This record gives sequence, structure tokens and C-alpha cells, in this order.
Amino acid sequence: IRVRPLTCSETRRGDRRVVHSLGDGTVHVSATSLLGTGRRGLRPPLSPHCPRAQVSAARQDATFGFSAVFDAGDSQEAVFEGSGMRQLVELAIDGFSCTVFAFGQTGSGKTYTLMGPLGQSETHPASPALLGLMQRSFACLLEQSRSRGSDLALSASYLEIYNEQVRDLLSPGPSCTLPLRWSKTRGFYVENQLSVDFESLEAIASLLLQALNPPSAGSQRRRTSAHALNRHSSRSHALLTIHIRRRNVSMCPAPASACPSRQGTLCFVDLAGSERVKETGSSGELSVEANNINRSLLALGHCISMLAKPRGKRTHIPYRDSKLTRLLARSLGGSGVTLMVACISPSSRCLSETLSTLHYASRARRVTTRP
Ligand code: ADP
Ligand code: MG
Repeated sequence: IRVRPLTCSETRRGDRRVVHSLGDGTVHVSATSLLGTGRRGLRPPLSPHCPRAQVSAARQDATFGFSAVFDAGDSQEAVFEGSGMRQLVELAIDGFSCTVFAFGQTGSGKTYTLMGPLGQSETHPASPALLGLMQRSFACLLEQSRSRGSDLALSASYLEIYNEQVRDLLSPGPSCTLPLRWSKTRGFYVENQLSVDFESLEAIASLLLQALNPPSAGSQRRRTSAHALNRHSSRSHALLTIHIRRRNVSMCPAPASACPSRQGTLCFVDLAGSERVKETGSSGELSVEANNINRSLLALGHCISMLAKPRGKRTHIPYRDSKLTRLLARSLGGSGVTLMVACISPSSRCLSETLSTLHYASRARRVTTRP
């Protein structure tokens, strides 16, 4: 769980912190102090955004336990080291399929956690201390590849799912949708997706920035629409996959081409915001987007609920219900190792979304995979 700090605008309008880390992986959400305090100037916690939270505020006192909780003051490095991300990178090098996904309401800090602050570019790089899980993982990958002396071949692919269509964020030219197929040997896969080899940190970092940069540079591909909650909110799910091929040259007397190679993957998933349509004031085209987002997150939730049941009690896992769950099938239930980072805002105004994210995360925590 990652709790972001209150933003300047939240502080300015007098939002209160209702989320507190109690240490030992527990997080406490308390709304009761918002009721009946009689203090002047203390506004009711919620306005148009989260009307439901106010109604049942008295019942919204809860404590949750997780493997790790990062509070507002925790650094990006603390999240990298304390979340198990470093181990995930090492497992990917060893040939496992590893996935980290960030989920939570728009504006809760998903992109910040994965990539650092908004507005970075090649000319305005972020301070190294603020770099996110992705850049830290790339650095770790390259460092490991050097220290292990093994010959790692790294390549990346970058996709988005927007309105239930899969697009390639690396393709030059106008983006076109790609078909999602299934085969016995490969499982679900995207046909004709581009994959780019890279050998340096700069190369992979600039790849990311290209996909993030403003439209004036002709390179913004990921869909964002300004709405009430966050001007930069992402309306698509973005999946960056690093393919790691390992050639054990030193252990193999035969020519390199005859050596068995193992392939691990490290996939970063920045999910679209989980907020409900009515809370974001979305309408028209935006509401179609929001419905698609909600539907795919719901499908993900169903798969997670099903996977969280004991193996004997599981029925069919509905991966086919959305493109997102099809693409994540292996990470979720198969042979993968998955880290879920649930991002939450500490603000009183986001109480109901925060509780729903925490419940979602609690269910996800019960899922076991067999890597
Ligand atoms: P999301 O991707 O979930 O929509 P963002 O990552 O864009 O949210 O974060 C929303 C805002 O909050 C951004 O301005 C971001 O810089 C800021 N923010 C998020 N998490 C943190 C954090 N841990 N520390 C400081 N600022 C943060
Ligand atoms: Mg985002």
C-alpha cells in the first residue's frame, strides 16, 4: 500500500488526513473523528466527489493488514527496497514472469510510484531521488547483468488498452489497434507488437519518456483526459514489458546459437483510475471511456476474487471478460510472481474510494500463484 501526501490543493481547501500507517504493515482509516466534533470551520468531509462516504462515515473506521505500507513521508527508494521490487527483478532475470501493477483512484499516485513526477522530459529530467519503480528496476537489471557476468539480452514492448482496444505505444506513425490472440503454447498474446532492444539505461528511459511526452512533440500516445479529479488522469491501462533473455555463454561449450536461452519477463502495469463515473463528472465520450475502464477493472476484480478462493473451490476464472485480464492472465493466476501496489490518497474527500481500494487489495493479497 502506498499512501501519497496531501497535495497542495487538498491542503489549501482544508482536507483532513484520514489514513494513517500504524507500522507493521497495518493501515488505519478513520472517519469517525469527522463526525460531530462541533469544531467550527470543519467542513463535512465530502462534496460532490464522494457523496456516499459522508452518509456512512460512522461505519468507515477500519484497519487493514498488508505486507508493507508506505506512508506519505516514505521515499521512492524506500518503496523500491521495501516492496520486494528488487527481488522481483532478480526473479525475472532467473527466468520467471514477473509483474508489478499499480492500481487505485485517479490522482492516488500510481504513475508517480512507477515513474516519478509528471512533467519529466529528456530536457527536464526528474531528480534521481524521485525516480520510480520502473527506472530503479531498469538500473537494477543493468547492474545485475553486469555483475553476474551473464549475457542478458533486453528488449521492451509497451502497450496500452484504451476503450478495450490494444495499441502499441512504441509504433511510430499513427497508432493502430492490434489483435489479441490465444494459442495453446503462448496463451494470450498480442499479434504484431513491436519490441525494441536496448542496452543502456538511457535508451529505455528515453523510450518511456517518448511515450509520455506532450502532444506538441508529436509523441504523446497514452490517452489522458482532463476531468474533475486530475488533469493528467490516465484513461488507459499501460503495460510495459521487459523481456530478458539469458545466454549462459560461459557454461555452454557449444556455439552460442545452440545454447538454451531462458526468457524472463518483467511487466509494469499502470492501471487506469478506479473511480466511479459519477464521481469524476464524466459524460459523453468520457463516460464511454470510464465505463470501459470500470468494466475492465471489475473483470480484474472478479478474476482476483475467484483466484483468492482455495484451489478446490475455484470455478472457471473469467480471464476472457476483458482485454486487460486476458493480457494479465499469466501474471495473475499462472506461473508468475506478482507485486500489487495499491495507491491511496490520505484525503477525507477520497474516503470511499480509499476504502474500496483497500478492500480490493485485501482480496488480491489472498491470491497465490505457482511460479
Ligand atoms: P495517478 O497516476 O494515480 O492518477 P499521479 O501519480 O499522477 O496519480 O499523482 C497525482 C499527483 O500527486 C501528481 O501531481 C503527483 O506528482 C503527486 N504525487 C503522487 N504520489 C506522490 C508522492 N508519493 N509524493 C509526492 N507527490 C506525489
Ligand atoms: Mg497515472
